[in-house]
Amino acid sequence: MHIQRRATAVAPTPPLSVQQAAAPASIARGGRVSLDIPGDVHQHYFGRGRRRYRLPRFSDLKDITQSKTLGIDQAELKELVKTALIRLKKENRLKSKDSLDAIIDAIFPAPGSIDQSAFEAAVDSSDRTIIYMSVFDTNARIKDKDRPKLRSAMRWAIKVIREAQTSKTMLTRIFGSKQADAAGNYRKAGDRLQAFVDSTATLNKSVNTDYNRDDAALYLGGWADFDDQVIHLEPGVAKVTNSKESVATLVHEAAHLADGAIEDHGYYPPSTGKDAFAGMAESRKLNNAAHYEEFVRRWLNTSTYNNDTEFTPGKAVSGAALTLEDDVRLATTEYFRHGWDAAVEVQFALVKYRKDLLASKDAKFKKDLPELKKISKAMHLSLHRQSPGHETVTQLDIVLAESIARVVSDMGDHSASIKLALTPKDTSEIKKASDRLINDTIRSYGALLGDSKKDRTLTNWLVANYGKAFY
Ligand SMILES: [Zn+2]
Repeated sequence: MHIQRRATAVAPTPPLSVQQAAAPASIARGGRVSLDIPGDVHQHYFGRGRRRYRLPRFSDLKDITQSKTLGIDQAELKELVKTALIRLKKENRLKSKDSLDAIIDAIFPAPGSIDQSAFEAAVDSSDRTIIYMSVFDTNARIKDKDRPKLRSAMRWAIKVIREAQTSKTMLTRIFGSKQADAAGNYRKAGDRLQAFVDSTATLNKSVNTDYNRDDAALYLGGWADFDDQVIHLEPGVAKVTNSKESVATLVHEAAHLADGAIEDHGYYPPSTGKDAFAGMAESRKLNNAAHYEEFVRRWLNTSTYNNDTEFTPGKAVSGAALTLEDDVRLATTEYFRHGWDAAVEVQFALVKYRKDLLASKDAKFKKDLPELKKISKAMHLSLHRQSPGHETVTQLDIVLAESIARVVSDMGDHSASIKLALTPKDTSEIKKASDRLINDTIRSYGALLGDSKKDRTLTNWLVANYGKAFY
């Protein structure tokens, strides 16, 4: 499954009519299309200030605390909830100014007991961006009222895709000698979207969204599964709150559906450095979904680049060779992206197991339990601490996995602000220099487990498990 990180903190825009979309001539002239709409800001990740770490509902925590069978040691439970609070504190979302230990001691005054007033004094429990409500709202069908707008964004994406197929000059600027292959992939991507426009049954079967706000908490823009030909869109994309971002995301996900070889090798800048993205090798960018956004973004005037910028392998936008620092920073952001991706997959899996268990279907869970316990141990969750024979996926586990995904994603952004001291010695040692940058980033960011050695062990485990399906 190819998951897509949410690219921007998107501001709503008025819907763009197909009329506006049908004016691509300016691309051929090399000028930027003038579809500038106030508020359509192409924001950077950095400092976006979206605060989304969450906690389980009080009732879910109470169930865990008072369970006669789960058997999680009270001291360990306090530690687990404390790590969730460390992350909320990082986002300045604790109501209480007390120390974390004082807050935790007040919430859990004695073994087996939990204090609701202390919980409510610590966090605003009515805020759904703080409290995780229901696993059953994830992966929901597109609501009837959202469908027409999504379809019009799809029609619009198809129009741009059809334009791309015949824009040899522009595709050559982006894909170089692979432009004809790229055109073929665009054609298939357009056909996939056309099928969703043509048939409601196909749309309902193949496109879903999330009404539980997991996506926002995970920084998830969407995902695509080539084998099942399914795409998932975060609710803002599905509801088309920003038409240009919806179109770009639809093309990205449709590219995954076009060919199983199209994966993610670096998201659209600034997630991947602007120069590193432009300087990617031809064979790699042909199979990188984010590169299929570039034609669309040039067309929509939301590109990071000028319309006449040529992407040249190994070279920065300026034409200069990519520097050692570019390589080290790309290796570092890719490390955190892989870690984020794996943590999102774990969260997805835990949601599925919890849904199964709540529906009294436990066969798969029981079969997979040994593996799940290993995951729990590596990610510092609660499963492996529960009484043998009584294990379950608690809401706390889901929230912890979700917040790990967030922290690791934030760390990738944070790495851009960490100074990188490169000595000539590093020229042949990108990996070593990147390792140092990763450690410096983790130390500087904090807020994962509260211990940078343990943090690095955890992120290494995630990166080693990149690409694995956990359910
Ligand atoms: Zn992708």
